[in-house]
Amino acid sequence: MKICDVCGAVLDKDETCIFNVPKENAPSIADYSAMARGEMSHAEHQVLVGRWGLHNTEALGQKAIQKMREFADSAWGKKVTVFKI
Ligand SMILES: [Zn+2]
Repeated sequence: MKICDVCGAVLDKDETCIFNVPKENAPSIADYSAMARGEMSHAEHQVLVGRWGLHNTEALGQKAIQKMREFADSAWGKKVTVFKI
């Protein structure tokens, strides 16, 4: 099992990180409906946002990047559920 060295996500078989995508494909897009259904906690959502954010830092300030780092570090190397729209 390989871990993304940018965000700490478990990598796919082809060793690509699903969080290394543009905003319109961010894996956290489906979280809001999953949270509304009670299938995802806010903390789990923050991990997905943090992982994506660390791959997309160009629009973020230093404080935001620090937050993304904290969210991602809270689940470094752990598998998290990613919901599909
Ligand atoms: Zn990654």
